Amino acid sequence: MSYYSCKRCLLKTKNFTDIKRHFNKKIKCSKEINNFNNKEEELFIYSLIPFTDNVQNINYNEVFINKNILKDKDKLFDEINNIEKNKLKTCKYCNITFNKIQDLKNHMILKCFSILLNDIYKHDPDIIEKVYENNITNNVTHITNNNITNITINVNTDSIISFDKDWDVSHLSNGAKQSLVISFVKYTKTLEHILKNDKNINVLLDKDSDKGFIFKNNNFEEMSKNDIIEKSFLKIYNHIKNFIEDIKNNNEYCIDIDLLEEHNVILESKYNKYYTDNLSKSMVHEYLIEKYENVKDRAFNNYNTIMNCNDKITREY
Ligand SMILES: [Zn+2]
Ligand SMILES: [Zn+2]
Repeated sequence: MSYYSCKRCLLKTKNFTDIKRHFNKKIKCSKEINNFNNKEEELFIYSLIPFTDNVQNINYNEVFINKNILKDKDKLFDEINNIEKNKLKTCKYCNITFNKIQDLKNHMILKCFSILLNDIYKHDPDIIEKVYENNITNNVTHITNNNITNITINVNTDSIISFDKDWDVSHLSNGAKQSLVISFVKYTKTLEHILKNDKNINVLLDKDSDKGFIFKNNNFEEMSKNDIIEKSFLKIYNHIKNFIEDIKNNNEYCIDIDLLEEHNVILESKYNKYYTDNLSKSMVHEYLIEKYENVKDRAFNNYNTIMNCNDKITREY
């Protein structure tokens, strides 16, 4: 029996039309946690190759992926339609003839369509820079098989802070706290600086999915993106409030108390606007999601470390 499996959410379906429709949806499916580290275009093309008897017929050494393939996915789907409709077995780009129609379809998806795109974009210096040849990319299969190897362990799992707790701000100097309090973009900058501390990287978020993952009770749990951002916003607010108190109690640089008070008022007004004004709220969401997206690789590293450690613990007992 053959089927297709979405490499983002692991949805299984028998028909190519369904998987095609799945990738054409406006709101993308939720990314499964193990797939966070893979490139979008890889997840896309490998989802289009059917499994037969639970095996995907892919020679990873011959795969060629153009970075723009997602932008041009309609053209790729047209090529596939054309092959199906005319029962083609010969590639119109490289003239290779295959035994089965399905083999030509796979070849188009995994190679020749991307080579065509390379040609189309070759005069655009921005785009050509992003084109890459995919040498050995069986990460996707590796990861779905739960065979996570070669992970750099540089985090002590005990030190990652639960998302339901306050972040560790011990790395921020008085001067840094003062700058954040009077910053024009207090909330965003505060999160950015909080995330410089590895202990605080406890959110795994992907801007295209409506859910993410948070570290809690020595594990990663699913949480809606909206909840993650709303809770983060409240935590940032509390931290900035504390910064203001810290400065008042230890005013090392003799900061003008009136200026602090002014910024306290701005902090409060931004806080209230978040709950009353939809535009402010959506801007906060956009900015904070970007900050989390920027540390996605480090968050995925933390996730792997936790999973490896938990795995070790289970095996030892
Ligand atoms: Zn999916
Ligand atoms: Zn070809």
